[in-house]
Formats: sequence, structure tokens, C-alpha cells
Amino acid sequence: MIANILYRFVGNRLSPAGPQARLSILIYHRVLAERDPIFPNEPTVATFNAQLGRLKQVFTVLPLSEAVTHLKTGTLPARAACITFDDGYADNLTLATPILKKHGLHATFFIATAYLDGGRMFNDTVIEAIRRSSLHTLNLDDLGLGQFDIAGVEAKALAIGHLLPQVKYLPVAQRESTVARIAELAACGALPDDLMLTTQQLQQLHAAGMEIGGHTALHPILAKLDAEAARKEIAAGKDYLENALGNRVRLFAYPNGKPGVDYLPEQAAIVRALGFDAAVSTQWGAANQTSDVFQLPRFTPWAASRYRFVPQLLQNLRYKYTATIPQAG
Ligand SMILES: [Zn+2]
Repeated sequence: MIANILYRFVGNRLSPAGPQARLSILIYHRVLAERDPIFPNEPTVATFNAQLGRLKQVFTVLPLSEAVTHLKTGTLPARAACITFDDGYADNLTLATPILKKHGLHATFFIATAYLDGGRMFNDTVIEAIRRSSLHTLNLDDLGLGQFDIAGVEAKALAIGHLLPQVKYLPVAQRESTVARIAELAACGALPDDLMLTTQQLQQLHAAGMEIGGHTALHPILAKLDAEAARKEIAAGKDYLENALGNRVRLFAYPNGKPGVDYLPEQAAIVRALGFDAAVSTQWGAANQTSDVFQLPRFTPWAASRYRFVPQLLQNLRYKYTATIPQAG
């Protein structure tokens, strides 16, 4: 395809092989069996398949651990890219992995270990409660969150979009009690307990050749914790994974991941001290040789149109932000 020749040409200018290379790291969370009307932009199996097909025609996809080594030594190939998944959804194994394997591509999966084996992340409690609710209005006045129209798919999507940012920054215990109360008030009945991987599925993902990385246990906002609590959360996730996999866990992803908001340089120092090799944020952009490998930027491909997928990745290579290696002292 002529477009791919052009894309590779542009990609070579923005991300040549060697010391001037830039590393694109993609973030995914879930791959769905079919389109979710509440989250129409969440990739389906078909979208993910099409994206990987396009990605590998323009980018050189490699495992993140390998890419970090090449980034440090100035030996990345041109147009280098890595694929990552956050949180530990079961569909990462059941739906995403077969497509990755079909394309011969590698991905790294960052797992919040407290939700393995039947757990549910706070965001999914809100999403699934509102999805299942047959109420017209959700009254959350007793939580100080107001009232939401939840009649119909669009209203549900808006209500979820308003609620999640307010719940996300609560301390973990309050976050859990708040979402449990939202589910109660939504009168939604039983919520799914099979959204996340089981430990056995996690082992299968690892056995399939994929890399497993840390993402804490409970997925707290690390910037809100004191040093000891942050260290415990990061270490608990790492220890669980290393016991389950019998293998050193080398990579870490900060929950929520915005530098200066969700994690601070103090927590990046803890990640380094705990023996990880590198860590990723959710700051957009692409890493270069001066980037702090404990704060590598990542990019969520959000394009509604599949024709925009590669152009967006090329645009992301031009993004200027990158956290640089902190000076000693
Ligand atoms: Zn996460």
C-alpha cells in the first residue's frame, strides 16, 4: 500500500534507528467480543485485529523489556513500538492474545493483583451497575454526588463519565464503599465477577510468551499515599506476580499514570528501589534516549476511524513532552 510507504518514510524521519530513535508505547485495557454501546471507542476483536495489522506494517513491534535495553544503549530499530495492557482483564487472554499470536506480536500486561480471581475494579462496579440499572434517575445525593439521568445508553455513558473521575481519587477504602453504595442505589442486581483474569489465566498469559508487569495490588492513586503505603502497594503486586509466575517482574505501570497528579518523582524512586528495570506512565508522547526509563510515556490510540490509527501514532511521535532522567542529588 502506497500509504504505508509514505508512513514508513515519515516514521523514519521522526524515529530513525539508533541514538535518535523514539519509542512508541501503546496502552490498551480491554478488547471486547463486540461493540459496547456505552463505550463505542473501546476496541473490539475486529478493531484490535485491524490495528495490529496496520501497526506492524509501519512500526517495528518489540517486547517492552527489550526495547528499554535498546533505548538505553541507543540501538532501537527505526519506528520502534511496544504494546501494553493495563489492569488484568480476562479478555486480555481470551480475546487479545489469540490476535497478538496471529500477528506474531508481543505485549506486556500490567496487573492490579488484588482483583485477580473474581475481583472487580471500582470503575467496573460503577459501569456495570449503571449498565444494568433500569432506573431512570440515579439519586446519589446521600453520597454528595448528585442525581443522574440514566435512562438510555447515552445518558448512562454521560453519568459514568461524570462519576468515574470523582470516585477515582478517593482513598481506596472510601472508593470501595462508595462504588458499593452506587451499585446498591442503582438497584442493579448481581454484578459480574469474571471480568478479571484468574491466577491460572495469568500463568497461561505468561506461558504464551507475554510479559507480565506490576500495577500495584489495589490500584490506588500513588501520589495520595505516604511513602510506606506506596512502597507496600507496589511491593505487594510485585511479590504476588513473582510467586505466581516464578520469574522476576521487571516492569511497572503507575495506576492512572499521569505524572505530577497520579504519581510523583518520590514514587518513581520507590519503583526503582524495589528492583524494577523500567516504568511507564500515561503521559502521551514517545520516549527518546534522554527519557527517564522510570517514567516512559505511552499513548492510547483512540481513533474512531481505522484510517486514523497510524497517522495518530505518527502524530504522537512529534509530541514534545518527555520526563528526562533526574539529576543525581
Ligand atoms: Zn490501571
